Amino acid sequence: MPVTFTNRHGGVSQGVYSSLNLGDHVGDDGAVVLRNREVVSAIHGPMQFMNQVHGNRIAIIEEITDEAPTADALVTGIPGITLAVMVADCIPLLLTSKEVVAAVHVGRRGLVNSVAIKTIELMREMGAQDISATIGPAICGRCYEVSAEIHQEVISLFPSADSRTNSGSFALDLPKALLAVLHDAGIAVDISHGACTVEDADLFSYRRDGITGRQAGLVRL
Ligand SMILES: [Zn+2]
Repeated sequence: MPVTFTNRHGGVSQGVYSSLNLGDHVGDDGAVVLRNREVVSAIHGPMQFMNQVHGNRIAIIEEITDEAPTADALVTGIPGITLAVMVADCIPLLLTSKEVVAAVHVGRRGLVNSVAIKTIELMREMGAQDISATIGPAICGRCYEVSAEIHQEVISLFPSADSRTNSGSFALDLPKALLAVLHDAGIAVDISHGACTVEDADLFSYRRDGITGRQAGLVRL
């Protein structure tokens, strides 16, 4: 059940997308993005991407399709299919078990609409016995500054998301909140990949750079 997180190095994209941009929806040259995806596939096998919309729809993948399903979680019980979640500040959450794996896109809206828990429930329905989670690089609780209104809205639901920036303004700690959600669900969580996308120059960050590329979390049975 290998899990991997790409960073921005090792691809062929230029400029703000330099260099391993895997996002085909961010303004980069489509042919170049395909070459980048081939670089990753050569190592990690055929990949299924999704058209992420900050919702909580889950797509069950039985074969790889060129047409990316519109979803914020991909699940498969079939060995050899690598599931990909693209991110540049949102949390790439990878869920593994001996029977089923999943790649989940968890931003602020994904946290609120329970996409992670819905995915875990579906994995269990599909036969997953003992699920583990890996949280990948995402914007941290010091860097994710938000308005007072959004701060209140989120911490009323997820108290552990409460955070402040270094200058003392309202912020949200989404990885910490997701960790609490997963612990409440009885899931063991590996947070060792959890660098901050804004602070780590090796990673794409939308909040830091605006127009930029996307890295990916990858998981397969
Ligand atoms: Zn940070």
